[in-house]
Amino acid sequence: MELFWHRRDLRLADNVGLAAAADRSAVAGVFVFDDDVLAHASDVRVRRLLDGLAALRDEYCDRGSDLLVARGDPETVLPGLADALDADRVVWNRDYSGLARERDAAVRKALNEAGIEREAHHDAVLHTPDSIRTNAGDPYSVYTYYWRKWTDRETDPPAPTPEATDLVDADALAATLEGDDGALADGGVATDRVAVGDLPAPADLGFAEPDADVGPAGTAAARERLDAFLSEAVFAYDDERDYPAREATSRMSAFLKYGEIGVREAYEATEEAMAAAEARAEGDGGSDGDGDAEDDGGPVAAVEEYQQQLAWREFYTQVLYHNPAVVTENYKAYEEGIEWRDDPEEIAAWKRGETGYPIVDAGMRQLREEAFMHNRVRMIVASFLTKDLLADWRHGYDHFRERLADHDTANDNGGWQWAASTGTDAQPYFRIFNPMTQGERYDPEAEYIKEYVPELRGLDADLIHGWHELSPTQRANAAPEYPSPIVDHSERREEALAMYKRARGED
Ligand code: FAD
Repeated sequence: MELFWHRRDLRLADNVGLAAAADRSAVAGVFVFDDDVLAHASDVRVRRLLDGLAALRDEYCDRGSDLLVARGDPETVLPGLADALDADRVVWNRDYSGLARERDAAVRKALNEAGIEREAHHDAVLHTPDSIRTNAGDPYSVYTYYWRKWTDRETDPPAPTPEATDLVDADALAATLEGDDGALADGGVATDRVAVGDLPAPADLGFAEPDADVGPAGTAAARERLDAFLSEAVFAYDDERDYPAREATSRMSAFLKYGEIGVREAYEATEEAMAAAEARAEGDGGSDGDGDAEDDGGPVAAVEEYQQQLAWREFYTQVLYHNPAVVTENYKAYEEGIEWRDDPEEIAAWKRGETGYPIVDAGMRQLREEAFMHNRVRMIVASFLTKDLLADWRHGYDHFRERLADHDTANDNGGWQWAASTGTDAQPYFRIFNPMTQGERYDPEAEYIKEYVPELRGLDADLIHGWHELSPTQRANAAPEYPSPIVDHSERREEALAMYKRARGED
């Protein structure tokens, strides 16, 4: 028997480590609630994790097995459990973030000391963080060049899904654990903290039920959503993806974050969509059929643009892998350091979605209600926090980390540092989003704004997009409950430019 340790791969299908273990022997799956990880969690993410685990457990149960659930330090839980189950080996998939790598090193050491074999696999990304480098052998810090190499590489096919016969029977698991309490206790694990199948409630882990609806979880839901997206919306993705009211993106981020769908499976599905787009383009006589998306335009380019987003995820994964300090530090150092203003009241108004800038407030309220925010709006609210409120990006990152169901250290950090002009492929500091024109361009009818800002529902889009230009009396008449802008964008833009120039030592 082998023990497979699930972490950010809550699935049976296209799971590289699990498939490798199942190829050799019967497998028992375990998830460990690690107190060190829980210390960084939030109500939203605990709810989302538990939903993902419930779906994973159903998959085990459907195959006559069950999911082992433990709480404690993996350094002691895993050797104890492997011993109790008489497992030959503990297997897992690598997690590339700094904290996880430290934890994995400690677990490796503990298993070695206990004389138990272990094996780690590459699974979370198509191309490992070490595999794509510049010709000089350095990691990439510019996405465009990274993408060119990423898209030219061969990809592995999805890993096979274990059959029922590959998994340890649920009754056998329960019987072994019951009879082996002593062995577990010897391993340093409180026996009442290892269970077959039983999942805790958020309160058991010290968290509350979130107000936000965290959305569907699990492999079946992920596949359903991806299939629906790739059968239609993807073909207009390049034209539509920036418009938050159009629901033109895949909403795959939380599924990918928890690994409820494998990247090989997801990528293969995009390749099939690409082939369908090429066939369609040839049928229309609109393509030279060489598969070169840049020349073809239309649906082929749209699918490629979607693949580029999957590559952004891998780009930021390798940025974090090679630069673990970016979690708390600027990737790009400014000579004099940035003197953030960090006004607590302004930051609090931003969090509440009460800045008086409609598109910013709509985004912050979507985040509160859905534990999600559209990508274009994430960029707008991040620019507003850092360049209109002159607040340190870490305030925004911490808030997103608490509220996003799809929070992913690499992507969240990459997004924030991009917006703050401190990142790898950063937005130049002098390019500052204007929140009013962004709203006008990407939500022209103010549909997205009205969905999340009920105070503005009765107003024409023109009035909403011109909110900053109205007099206090006009505002009070039009939407008395909605705040006036808390800052003047033109003034703050100049102050932001001066702040960055000082940081660059140009003042
Ligand atoms: P789609 O447009 O359908 O994209 C498909 C997938 O590609 C996404 O699910 C995601 O896995 C990946 N992807 C798309 N855009 C990016 C990107 N810019 N960077 C990295 N991967 C990307 N994404 C997260 O997954 N977790 C985060 O915590 C996160 N925080 C962000 C914070 C800020 C300030 C910004 C500007 C962006 C952040 N993003 C984050 C990236 C992006 O906004 C989300 O991935 C996207 O909105 C999710 O919606 P979707 O699945 O419909 O995206």
